Amino acid sequence: ADVPGRFRRVLLKLSGEALMGSREFGLDPATVERTAREVAAASRLGFELCLVIGGGNIFRGIAGAAQGMQRASADYMGMLATVINALAMQNALENMGVQTRVLSAIPMSTVCEPYIRRRAQRHLEKGRVVICAAGTGNPFFTTDTAAALRASELGCQALMKGTKVDGVYSADPKLHPDAKRFDRLTYLEVLSKDLKVMDASAISLARESKIPVVVFSMQKDGALADVLAGRGKFTIIT
Ligand code: UDP
Repeated sequence: ADVPGRFRRVLLKLSGEALMGSREFGLDPATVERTAREVAAASRLGFELCLVIGGGNIFRGIAGAAQGMQRASADYMGMLATVINALAMQNALENMGVQTRVLSAIPMSTVCEPYIRRRAQRHLEKGRVVICAAGTGNPFFTTDTAAALRASELGCQALMKGTKVDGVYSADPKLHPDAKRFDRLTYLEVLSKDLKVMDASAISLARESKIPVVVFSMQKDGALADVLAGRGKFTIIT
């Protein structure tokens, strides 16, 4: 059951920038709403969905460190940024009548639930969209790694990476129009060719857990439901 069309429980990884729209920073409400519609549609089709959202639209640890902050402190700020994005997505989903829970790796009990694996599983079984916030809860990691970690421990059948392009290319297709697009790749090819899909620790963990990584474009309406049904273009890494 390692191809789209057969998955039932999936983890969707979105970068913070995916919620930024055409802005330079932060959240674009129309883009958040559009993204939430994708998730709502897939949830209504009966898929069990777990979301991991990055924070790069608000703050990245590396940027803070470059300005003289301690990397660990800057990374905690980055993790808090992912909580902001998670709450925005939760709000948009709830406005559409979708039941959600935000579970944070950094406990923040007045705002959301703490991340507890068994609780997350229970929410998924009940059909709630689980939004995992605050990454792994540890500095020096990324939300890509958090996505691979949560997908592994929650028994997700795939790690879906929603992007602006329809798969993995040999180079950035926006800068190199002759870049080659891949339909299929192995984890080791991604690592050895240093393809910009997710960071190496995320790919390694997905490989160890044998979780296929599916890279697809979220630009078109219905894209998530389509790829989950095995339709449309995507790159699958196995
Ligand atoms: N972060 C972290 N540990 C984690 C996940 C995230 O320290 O487990 C911090 C890190 O500083 C990162 C920021 O949170 O730069 C935002 O996450 P990320 O860069 O992965 O977001 P994305 O690029 O997906 O928007």
